[in-house]
Amino acid sequence: MIEICAVGGYNEVGKNCTAVKVDNEVIILDLGLHLENYIKFTQDEDIVNLSGKQLMKAHAAPDIESIKDWKDNVKAIIIGHAHLDHVGAVPYLASYFKAQVIGTPYTVSVINEILKEEKIKIKNRIRVLNSNSSYKLSDKIKIEFIHVTHSIPQTVIVALHTKYGILVYANDFKFDLHPVLGKKPNFKRLKELGKENVLALIVESTYADDARKTPSEMVAREMLKDILLGVDSKNNAIIVTTFSSHLARLKSIIDFGKKLNRKMLFLGRSLSKYVKAGENIGIISFTKDVELVKYSRQIKRKLSKISNEMEKYLIVATGHQGEPKAVLAKIANREFPFALRENDHVIFSCKVIPTPTNIENRKNLEENLKSLHIRIFKDIHESGHAAREDLREMIGMLKPRNIIPAHGNAEMKKALASLAMEMGYETGKSVFIIRDSQRLSIKTQKI
Ligand SMILES: [Zn+2]
Repeated sequence: MIEICAVGGYNEVGKNCTAVKVDNEVIILDLGLHLENYIKFTQDEDIVNLSGKQLMKAHAAPDIESIKDWKDNVKAIIIGHAHLDHVGAVPYLASYFKAQVIGTPYTVSVINEILKEEKIKIKNRIRVLNSNSSYKLSDKIKIEFIHVTHSIPQTVIVALHTKYGILVYANDFKFDLHPVLGKKPNFKRLKELGKENVLALIVESTYADDARKTPSEMVAREMLKDILLGVDSKNNAIIVTTFSSHLARLKSIIDFGKKLNRKMLFLGRSLSKYVKAGENIGIISFTKDVELVKYSRQIKRKLSKISNEMEKYLIVATGHQGEPKAVLAKIANREFPFALRENDHVIFSCKVIPTPTNIENRKNLEENLKSLHIRIFKDIHESGHAAREDLREMIGMLKPRNIIPAHGNAEMKKALASLAMEMGYETGKSVFIIRDSQRLSIKTQKI
């Protein structure tokens, strides 16, 4: 018998966690944070030792109480990619289970960097499994990692092979035919799985309503090129801000920075963390061209040293959502000893993630920048998430018998269900909309 429990990420975008029970063995897929709640909680309270329980109470981590009765049966915690809404709760919750943590080399490298930075030790064994390979976890379950593209390196679609059929977990992905870093998705393997018996597909629904194919990262690279190489910046400072974990985007920025003959600085803790995680496993070598400056004090020192020759630099700074404590907001507030001058460039290589806090923070940041007469270039970005037509392709390739929309609120899940219905599925019979903490038994006999 196969049972699925929606532990987190089924009422909201964030704190992703799904548990799958195959007879008496349980696999946890992802253990992520709800970032907005996490930031709110850790900012408001004066916390010394952050615990899993506190995070669950603050709705910042998935509520693993909902699988309390499965606790001793958990055999593995599998992390599909290293975004914090998929991996961020590992330091706080993995220890509740006597289970190994499994991820690709980059994902594991990020976990190790986070544990080091937060000074947390977990008892779980951490196992590396490469993309496009598999691992026999037990007599009942074989885990397979299938390479796919997203906005962070080494993302995988997870296939759990069981005697009842295959369960596929596809949170998060996009189908990028021209990736800037890493390989194309393994379409061949997805099609092969579709010829076998895919019992259920758990799949992201965030952009299921968006009737398009998500453009390639190469499109975002061209947009960046257009501005960095196409707009005259000879006498101006250039600051770019983007997702710290988006190594492909950072690679494009570095490539154009070199063409501009500028020295490059990456300012902020999270940039350092994800770049180091990538360099540790040899998938990038940014630091031969870029100086990483991690802490506020060092950043202050560096900026004051170079403030008379800013036009020689390309700076990448944290704070693309306008976070008041991040580097870009501090530069705009003149908390750092470096004055932006009229007509300097600030490029937002991101979209505003539309939460009330972000919208407010970004508004404040942009107003500050405008008051300094800065030239703002925003929305220089393409998403890492599948849109409706990518999702249609995924379903078409895998031909799952059942679909479970995940990674979204009620509206998003409904949009995915409507796509499935267009493709011949039926709500309640072969498409199942479930909410956080709900369980679902999957019919395992062949139809
Ligand atoms: Zn992601």
